[in-house]
Amino acid sequence: MSEKRDYYEVLGVSKNADEAEIKKAYRKLAIKFHPDKNPGDASAEEKFKEAAEAYEILSDSQKRAQYDRFGHAGMGQGGFSGGGMNMDDIFSQFGDIFGGAFGGSFGGSRGGGTRVTRGTNLRVKMKLTLEEIAEGVKKKIKVNKLVNAEGVTFKSCATCNGTGRITRVAQTFIGAMQTQSTCHVCQGAGKSIDTKPADADTQGLKRQEEVIEIEIPAGVEEGMQLSVTGKGNAGPFGGIPGDLIVVIEEVEHPDLKRDGDNLHYDAYVNFVDAALGESIEVPTVNSKAKIKIDPGTQSGKVLRLKGKGLPHLQGYGQGDLFVHINVWTPKKLSKEEKEILEKLRSSENFKPNPDSNDRNFFKRMKDMFQ
Ligand code: ZN
Repeated sequence: MSEKRDYYEVLGVSKNADEAEIKKAYRKLAIKFHPDKNPGDASAEEKFKEAAEAYEILSDSQKRAQYDRFGHAGMGQGGFSGGGMNMDDIFSQFGDIFGGAFGGSFGGSRGGGTRVTRGTNLRVKMKLTLEEIAEGVKKKIKVNKLVNAEGVTFKSCATCNGTGRITRVAQTFIGAMQTQSTCHVCQGAGKSIDTKPADADTQGLKRQEEVIEIEIPAGVEEGMQLSVTGKGNAGPFGGIPGDLIVVIEEVEHPDLKRDGDNLHYDAYVNFVDAALGESIEVPTVNSKAKIKIDPGTQSGKVLRLKGKGLPHLQGYGQGDLFVHINVWTPKKLSKEEKEILEKLRSSENFKPNPDSNDRNFFKRMKDMFQ
């Protein structure tokens, strides 16, 4: 368990602070970290609880005196909770502190009562070619999603009387305790369907196919998720829609292999071209490029074409294309070809004699990462 912070420090008041100062300090923190203002934020909820605990002790003169004498060690005694307050305790005990800050009196409906419901996210996979990734692309996709049905009218939810919350009162040995929870029928919206067309469900929604145009930026990668705000399923009871999540899938290119923003290509030349030198054509993503093979080029040499890779996502610059030279050894030979090669076999220049520049494996690593 982590060390508890000093209650005065938590509320940001001095040891001599009077009742009004303490109340004011707590109110400020409670509004700042209120769960309705920080939905889903666990650290805000912790701070909200921490402030409530500090206020529980410092707002009570007897508990405060005990805390002043013994610190946190004194709080386990005398029947004080000394922490461990749950949210419902906080709301039922200190609700009045919020006043009109959340648009309503606290006791009746926490945090101003009803809340806007949100539709669920819709996930789709999208296959993209390397060409599309290189340029960026606009795609139209057909999705089957929940939309608001036309002609739906609402009335107040009967289960929660339109408050969006259900209050329960339990009798305990220290008196009546009030707890509140989100209405399970209307999901907190405070509404229910009054009239609806036959094709609408009990939340006023229906399924419909819709074509959505999505703009994919250049440079996306396999597994990336793009989120299109508000294009997911519509929210129940006229709420706000969820998001459309597009998951990128890459179609493998027949010749070019991707490595981040860089591309790699295996080029094959026969040993005559490697020995005499030649110009060859290599594919780029959307075109072709010519490169020169120097006389005496060894198999395994890597040539780098700057800027012929893929664009950086959301940035400037471009990856490179690495052309890996492979010397092609003929697999079939005619009688005549064999005779020519036999004459060359014993030639002094055909004996392998690599120097350090020809040792491609090590040089390749250097070329690729320099
Ligand atoms: Zn309800």
